[in-house]
Amino acid sequence: MNKSLIELSKELEEKNKLLEKLASTDSLTGIYNRRFFVELAKKELYEIKRYNKTDTLLILDVDNFKQINDEYGHMYGDKALKAFSKVCSSEIRGGDIFGRIGGEEFAIILTNTSINNAVTFAERLRNLVSKIEIEVQNKKFSLTISIGITNILPDESIYKVMSMADKALYEAKGKGRNRVEILER
Ligand code: GH3
Ligand code: MG
Ligand code: MG
Repeated sequence: MNKSLIELSKELEEKNKLLEKLASTDSLTGIYNRRFFVELAKKELYEIKRYNKTDTLLILDVDNFKQINDEYGHMYGDKALKAFSKVCSSEIRGGDIFGRIGGEEFAIILTNTSINNAVTFAERLRNLVSKIEIEVQNKKFSLTISIGITNILPDESIYKVMSMADKALYEAKGKGRNRVEILER
């Protein structure tokens, strides 16, 4: 039986939605991929400038992740990344933007959030993540994260803001990991 034009256009719409989702999502964690995170962040930066909003950027990196992979295997490393993403997703609010920007590196834009409130959020998240337990046969392992935070100035590019948060993250790594560092400008 021939499909009506309405049925065909509905099917096409559904397929387009699926393609959009695939193009914007990281297949392991189900959160936004780097490309889409950057796209949304650029839109948000425009809003910051236009409406004088206060947003804060966090870059999060799993500590000694290579060691986790080496010790338990890549599959359990993947499990840890999924569990970590789930905790972050449940902690952020509706307007926030969360994406996987690299292998074990993630970014969150907390919208309408001052740097002080972002620090409180980051410390809570760091604490929650340290309580995740990944089961491997009859053993368990946990993971920690380091977080770099910076405020977002009007008129700067997303790449500049990300490099500033990266500097703070680098500090956190240098000071021993499992900690939050701030670069306030
Ligand atoms: P640091 O505390 O300094 O961040 O150390 P690190 O070991 O976490 O950092 P490094 O950059 O040396 O290693 C990151 C590792 O993450 C190496 C890479 O194999 C692993 N990785 C990247 N993407 C994935 C992934 O999708 N799944 C798994 N299981 N591992 C991944
Ligand atoms: Mg790491
Ligand atoms: Mg890294």
